[in-house]
Amino acid sequence: MTDKVESFEKSDPAGAIIGCPNCGLLQRAADCMGTEVAFCGRCRTPLVHCAGKSLDVSLACASATLLLLIPATFEPFLTTSAFGATRSSILPSSALALWHEGWPLLAIVFCLFVLIFPPIRFAALVVVLWTIRGAARPRWLGPLFRLTNALQTWAMLDVFFLGMAVAYARLHISILVTIDTGAVCFVAAAVLSLIARATLDKRRVWRLIGPEAGSCVSNARSSDSCLLCPSCDLLVQKKAEPESEPTRCPRCGALVRARRPDSVSRSMALLVAAVLLYFPANLYPIATIPIEFRPTAYTVFGGIVDLSKSRLIGLAVLVFCASFAIPILKMVGLSYCAVSSIRRSNQRLISKTRIYRLLEEIGRWSMIDPFTIACFIPVMDFNALLYGRAGPAATPFAAVVILTTLAVKCFDPRLMWDRAGRIHG
Ligand SMILES: [Zn+2]
Ligand SMILES: [Zn+2]
Repeated sequence: MTDKVESFEKSDPAGAIIGCPNCGLLQRAADCMGTEVAFCGRCRTPLVHCAGKSLDVSLACASATLLLLIPATFEPFLTTSAFGATRSSILPSSALALWHEGWPLLAIVFCLFVLIFPPIRFAALVVVLWTIRGAARPRWLGPLFRLTNALQTWAMLDVFFLGMAVAYARLHISILVTIDTGAVCFVAAAVLSLIARATLDKRRVWRLIGPEAGSCVSNARSSDSCLLCPSCDLLVQKKAEPESEPTRCPRCGALVRARRPDSVSRSMALLVAAVLLYFPANLYPIATIPIEFRPTAYTVFGGIVDLSKSRLIGLAVLVFCASFAIPILKMVGLSYCAVSSIRRSNQRLISKTRIYRLLEEIGRWSMIDPFTIACFIPVMDFNALLYGRAGPAATPFAAVVILTTLAVKCFDPRLMWDRAGRIHG
C-alpha cells in the first residue's frame, strides 16, 4: 500500500483533483497504476482504491448474478419433511407467507430487499459496464450508474444468504431439510454479487462516463467555489446566487449541495425513532419455532442462546454481532459523531471518521434475523405443534435496522471537520 494522495494546497499541478467525501478536503491524486490504495491526507479515508479491480471481472460476475437470479427466484428453494408430509417453497413464497400471516411491512421489506432491488441493481450495472466498453455515452448512463450505487446498500443478496444459513441450521435440528436448485443458484448469485462489488472500480467507471476536467477543476484553487457531488465525486461549480440552491451534477444528475441539508437534526430524529423501537424489538418474541417438537417463542437474545445451546457457536456469534451488537454500535457511534459535530470538538476526528465509515459498511447485516424468519416460514407449517411464525418483535426489529441505516446515510461526516474549524487545514 502506498499513500499517493497529497494535500491539494501543497501539490504540483499533475493528477486529478478529488474531494474527500468524509472530510471535504480537496487534494490531488495521481492516476492509479493497478495495485495502489491512496488515502485522504487528512482523515485517512481510502480515496483511490484500484488494488484487485477489473471492470471485465465485475461485468462477468454481475451478468452471472443476474442470470442466476432467474432460477433462484422461480425454482424450488427449500423442502422440508416431517411425519411423512413435505413442504416446499420458492423464494417469493416467503413474501406471500408473511403477508398472509399479517406482517405486511415485513413482506414489503423482503420483496424490496431480496426480490426487486437486486435484479434492478445488477441489470443496471450490466448495462452500464457494457455501454462504457463502446464509444457512445448516452445521457442516461450517469444517472443509471448512480442508481446501481444507491441500491448497493439495499440489494441484500449477501445478507439473505446468511439468513438462509441460520434458518437451515435452526430447521435442521428438528426436521429434515433439503436445499433445492433455487437455493443453490441463490447462494452462487450472492457470492458472485460480492465479487462483482469487490472488483468494481467505481472511480474508473465515472471517469469513463464523463471526464473529471472541465467542471470546477480549472479554478479549484479556491475550494470555496467547488462542491463535491455526493454520488460521483465530481467537483461542481457552486451557483453564485442564491448559494443555498442545489446545483445539478452534469455527470450523474444528482443534486449537489455544500453539505447534506439538516444533516444532524434529520439523522438524530431517525435515531430517536430507532431507539424507541429498539425496546419492543428486543423485549417481545421475534419468532416462534418448534424446539424438541414444542412451539417455542424466542426473543433476539434468546435466539442467540438457543443457537449456542445447540452447539452452533459460529452462527450464535454471527447473530449476536448482526442482531445485537451492530444496532447498539450504530446508535452509540452515530450519537458520538453527531454530538462531536454539535460540540465543535476537534478531538480524535480521524477515529470518529473511521467509526462513521464502519457504521456505513456494517449496518445492513442486521437484517439477518428478519430474513431467517422469512426463509423458514413457508416450509415450517405442518401441524399445531410443528410450525414457525414471525413474532411481534420482527416488524420493529426490521424498522430499527432501516431507520439506523437511513440515519447513518443522512449524517454528513464533513460537519465534524467543518465545525472543528479545520476544513482548510
Ligand atoms: Zn478526508
Ligand atoms: Zn455527480
